[in-house]
Amino acid sequence: MDITTDTPVLVTGATGYVAGWLVKELLEAGLTVHAAVRNPNDASKLGHLNEISRRAPGTIRYFKADLLNPGSYAQAMEGCSIVFHTASPFTVNVKDPQRQLIDPAVKGTRNVLETAKDSDCVERVVVTSSCAAIYTDAIDCHAAPGGVLTEEVWNETASLSYQPYSYSKTLAEKEAWKIASGQSRFKLVTVNPSLVVGPALSKKPTSESFNIVRQMGDGTMKQGAPKLGIGAVDVRDLAKAHVAAAFSPDAEGRYIVSAYNTNLLEIGKTLIEKYGDAYPIPRNSLPKWIVWMVGPIVSGISRKFVENNVNVKWKADNSKGKRVLGITYRPLQESMEDMFEQMIQTGMFRK
Ligand code: NAP
Repeated sequence: MDITTDTPVLVTGATGYVAGWLVKELLEAGLTVHAAVRNPNDASKLGHLNEISRRAPGTIRYFKADLLNPGSYAQAMEGCSIVFHTASPFTVNVKDPQRQLIDPAVKGTRNVLETAKDSDCVERVVVTSSCAAIYTDAIDCHAAPGGVLTEEVWNETASLSYQPYSYSKTLAEKEAWKIASGQSRFKLVTVNPSLVVGPALSKKPTSESFNIVRQMGDGTMKQGAPKLGIGAVDVRDLAKAHVAAAFSPDAEGRYIVSAYNTNLLEIGKTLIEKYGDAYPIPRNSLPKWIVWMVGPIVSGISRKFVENNVNVKWKADNSKGKRVLGITYRPLQESMEDMFEQMIQTGMFRK
């Protein structure tokens, strides 16, 4: 993908797992990246970005901004033609979903996009949405036309009390389209990834992706893993998809960015060949009735979630992204091995 701009570009949530690889792509292409972060003085969160910028031809500049602080992205957006809005909390263990998930996702999207609308420079906004804005449970695939999730489908089943993370992403993306439709300043494109896997650039990743994969090596899944229908994509391929969404002249609308229609057990099994002797990688399918019985006690998942996801096939159509954005996907085994190796090296499995 040719990156064609002389102006700076803004990345919100630049400290994040997904954003790290995106910033790397942009710096390596020689761009000036305005990195909006909550705390520009937190060296522990910026070390990897500084390291990349030292080696790359581009330049990184930090700006302090918070999703919940209206107007706080204005300075970071000055002179930028492209805004990548990646910042949004990705965590599932929350006590107060409204405050911890919905508010930052929705008010944050409003904050960033309203500032873009009022700017005199922004031409395109790429929002990191999610497949979670398309579906809540694998069973939703079966209700979709032809049994397959496409960019036409919207999540209609998440709520504040059921899968609030998915609800936050749905409301945030709807807010983005609402703001975009009432203006002509910028074009909006969304990327909608499934579960993101692959190595992190930062040494202390906070993304929920790491909690999920950690359980495949720390013994949580030694008896097996449920065949929980899900999609997966490599973080490096996702970063390239963001770049294509920003710079491809034909990009419009939503893009499902998901390499494989798979399930939790199959994802875990990609680790057996290399790590199966040394780590308690899941090998067997946990029967649905067992997950139904113990899931709520052991991992806090609801029986409704088990019912709607375990042994339910997940299917999404990723052809639009391949066709229009030229997205290519690496093998899942490569993504998982690279991620797991890094988790070992950084001591994530040390007791
Ligand atoms: P992550 O590493 O936890 O990144 C989240 C980012 O959001 C961090 O930079 C965080 O900043 C920032 N953030 C959170 N609350 C904020 C606030 N109030 N103000 C400003 N910044 C705030 O998670 P990730 O996996 O990279 O997620 C990035 C995006 O990808 C999110 O929009 C997520 O919904 C989406 N996504 C992720 C996946 C996945 O499987 N990982 C799948 C689909 C979509 P701090 O460093 O300051 O906390």
